[in-house]
Order: sequence, then C-alpha cells, then structure tokens
Amino acid sequence: MEKTPEQRLWIKANIPEKLWRDYHWQIQNRIRTKEQLEKYIKLLPEEIEGIERTKGLYPMAITPYYLSLMDPEDPMDPIRLQAIPRVVEVDESVQRYGEPDALKEDGPIPGLTHRYPDRVLVQTTTFCAVYCRHCMRKRIFSQGERAIGEQQLKLIVEYVKKHSEIREVLLSGGDPLTLNPEKLDIILSEFRKIPHIEVIRIGTRLPVLAPQRFFDEDVLKILEKHSPIWISTHFNHPKEITPEAQEAVENLLRRGIPVLNQTVLLKGVNDNPEIMLELMRKLIKIKVKPQYLFHCDPIKGVIHFRTTLEKGLEIMKYLRGRISGYAIPTYAVDLPGGKGKVPLLPRYLIDSDGTKHTFLSWDGQKVEYDICEF
Ligand code: SF4
Repeated sequence: MEKTPEQRLWIKANIPEKLWRDYHWQIQNRIRTKEQLEKYIKLLPEEIEGIERTKGLYPMAITPYYLSLMDPEDPMDPIRLQAIPRVVEVDESVQRYGEPDALKEDGPIPGLTHRYPDRVLVQTTTFCAVYCRHCMRKRIFSQGERAIGEQQLKLIVEYVKKHSEIREVLLSGGDPLTLNPEKLDIILSEFRKIPHIEVIRIGTRLPVLAPQRFFDEDVLKILEKHSPIWISTHFNHPKEITPEAQEAVENLLRRGIPVLNQTVLLKGVNDNPEIMLELMRKLIKIKVKPQYLFHCDPIKGVIHFRTTLEKGLEIMKYLRGRISGYAIPTYAVDLPGGKGKVPLLPRYLIDSDGTKHTFLSWDGQKVEYDICEF
C-alpha cells in the first residue's frame, strides 16, 4: 500500500515543513552512514555488512525524503532495495558477472558518448541525491562527487559544434539537475548557442529522489529559458509517486517541459505485472509519459537485480488491453558493446502464409485475418 503523507511522518517528525520542502536541506541531510540510518530503521545483517563493505566502491546516500517512502518494517520494501546497500553487491557470486561499463559509454572525449549519429550523451557530474543500488553507472560512484570542469566542457562543446549531424544533447551524470543553477545555466547556454542542436534532454532522477528541486523557481526559470527541454526521469515503483513528485512534475509541465519516464525492470522491486500496471497508471495520472521499460543491464555489482526476458515479456503482455496504448512503455534491451537499444514485443502474429494471418488478441484468443496488398 502506498503511504499517505501522514504515514510518512515517522521521518518527517519534528522537521518543519519549510525545511522538508527545501532541496538544499534534503541534500545536506542525506543519510551517508550506518549510524545515521539506524536512527530510523532496524537494519538487516546483510545491510549492515553491505554498508561497510561497499564503502569507497559503491557508497550510500539517501535523502530524508526518499527514506520517508520506506516501510521500516518491511525488509523487502522496494524503496529499501533500491537505496540501502546489501552485501550481495560486492559478493563474489555477483561481482563475477558483468562489466563496469557494459554499454561502452566511454566515447571520443571523457564524459561524452556518441553512439547514435544524431545525439550525444554528456556526463555533467558524478553527484546524485541518492546512489541507487541498481545504477548502470555504478562505476562512477567511487570517483568522488565532482562536476564537469570548464576545460572538459569546452572540448565537448567543440566536438558537438564540429558534428552538424548531432541534433540532440542528453545531459546525464550522475544527476545534472544537482548542479548549481549557475553552472547548469552555463552548460545549457553553451549547447543552445550551437545552431544544429534542436533539443536538449536532461536525465534526472530528482522527481523521484528529491522532488523539492522543482519547487525552486530559479531552477525552473533556467530550464524554461533554454526551451525546448525534455526531462527523462526514472520512476520504478508506484510508491515513488507521491504528492511531492506530482507537484514537481506539475511545475515542470507548467513551464512547458515534458516529462518522460524510463523504468528499469528490477527483480524484487517491480518484476510483477500488477505492480507495473499500477506504476504506469499512476505515471499517466501525474502526466508523465512512460517511455521505456529497460531490461536491467549486465553491470558489475547489479546482476542480482536482473530477471529474465520472459518475465519482461509477460509484463508487457499483461499491460496490453489493461491500460491505454500511450501508457505502455517500450520494453527494450540495451545491447552490449554500445550496439544500441532494441525493442522487444510479445508475439502477436503467430502464423502467416503471406495472406492469411493468425493473430493472438490481448486476451489470448486466436484471430484469423486476411491481409493482402490491394
Ligand atoms: S540517480 Fe540515476 S545516475 Fe544517480 S545513482 Fe540513481 S540511477 Fe544512477
């Protein structure tokens, strides 16, 4: 059951509303140690060992807001699984699989990935409000918290200027919207000055982890100033859709900034058709368009979150017919070695002789349909 704001008071207790709604307070009060976390939640042995053993490699940080979404009594709470390290992350059974950079994101210049001709990805910072345990860029957690330098930005901007086929810049990280507003403004201005850049997209999980960022008029004004900007965010579970998240999205939409969502299929968190259906329904309700459901990448330290392709397809099949088409994300696998994304669909065309086709309807009925060229 989703918690009401009142039920979340166990963490909000004694914190004035003004502070709770302040992004900087959320960041300054991130939970970084076992001792801090134990004040709010009784830790499991695998979490205590996990926090100790992931230090320096995959550190922990949790905003009070994200912590408030956890059910402290439930060891398998989906927020808890995404935020509190467990020893399995560094266990040999998991570490033996995957690569730190399975998608080969490292590109022509440090911090730049140029995989598809028309777009580039720019890593603007290594900082995140919460270090998600399933992150595909987990390799950067250990690099310390730092933003892109002036010189590196200059090299990237020069590269983009020289490549007129690039039409879209995706700012990524870490989380670009954790940058201070002045720096964000500079970065956006640099790319906006390039005539062939049509769209800037920003990948940010702040609507989920610290939606208070979007209660700040200065940040919203900067984003609006550099329109067209699209936001790609990352809701994974219906519990993450709260009144604060809704307010954040409303503020973005009011400024003309569309919000798309990319969910990652995670074992124990959302690998369940009913949960995924509820998530998609709630996303649409707060006017976030479900874009992708990604199969979890083979990243070192993340493999324990992986489930099967069959599970993903079963979920996709379940969604069809139970929710409108625009609320159904594209299920996709990111191919290793930087070969790009491929969409996956359950099989609906089950037989064909070129004219006579047999389809499977959303509720499992076989339907014959003659289709030929006129
Ligand atoms: S916010 Fe995004 S980049 Fe940062 S740890 Fe979470 S998933 Fe990774």
